[in-house]
Amino acid sequence: MKLKVLGTRGSFVSVKKENEIYGRNTSSFYLDAGTRLFLDAGTGILNCEDLPCEKAIHILLSHVHIDHVLGLFEWKPLYDPDREIRIYGHRRKGKTIMEQLDAIIGPPYWPIRLSQFPAKIRFYDLEEGKTLMIDDLAIDGIASIHPDETYMYRIENNGRSFGYALDYEAGRDEERKAERFFRNCDLVIFDGNDLPGQEKEGYGHSSWKQGMELCAEAKVRKLLISHYGYDLDDAVLKAEETAVGELSGTCVFAKEGMEISL
Ligand SMILES: [Zn+2]
Ligand SMILES: [Zn+2]
Repeated sequence: MKLKVLGTRGSFVSVKKENEIYGRNTSSFYLDAGTRLFLDAGTGILNCEDLPCEKAIHILLSHVHIDHVLGLFEWKPLYDPDREIRIYGHRRKGKTIMEQLDAIIGPPYWPIRLSQFPAKIRFYDLEEGKTLMIDDLAIDGIASIHPDETYMYRIENNGRSFGYALDYEAGRDEERKAERFFRNCDLVIFDGNDLPGQEKEGYGHSSWKQGMELCAEAKVRKLLISHYGYDLDDAVLKAEETAVGELSGTCVFAKEGMEISL
């Protein structure tokens, strides 16, 4: 499996030059495991549009906060009638993933609903406890702590395991659900929206330090920090990454364009 970092910014796209090294585009990752799979569809997904047409494209959404779906509005494959695109997510407040997306991407905010875009789009609602199989990938998910809830993923393939935990508030996870869910993962993408000591209760985010604690408790081999708070510029993130590097070689800060072999 190869993971490509397409977007790292949290909350909203940044136009600031001071953010260009760690990334200005919002959350999106591409997992190439033979299967074409995206995690979230922030503006970073616009970095990956030229994909061969013969296979379906799969997009797993953590939730529909605007920074995680903003790339869908103009993503070229969605306007290609020869494409098949499958979008997965969990029900939120009784609404299917299609209903949630159509509420944002559709009139009066956008001329047509996402479900009416030219590509053949199929929507799938995920449930906790039911493993989703896409080719050789076994995908599980659990709802986690974030305003209006988000969904964390664990993906297994050929004995390798990979976790996705953005927009997750570790400080309020009293049942330590994440620790159990990500046990023994080879890699977890973790929410680094806040700086250590500046985590805000109820905002639904975490810091790299909380990621390191999860790493130790759940025996996760490697952490990839992403979803940087809007105000965290390159200088701040570089200093944080240096501080982490002195503590451990198992924690990496994501940069837009980075590729990792799993
Ligand atoms: Zn977010
Ligand atoms: Zn969110």
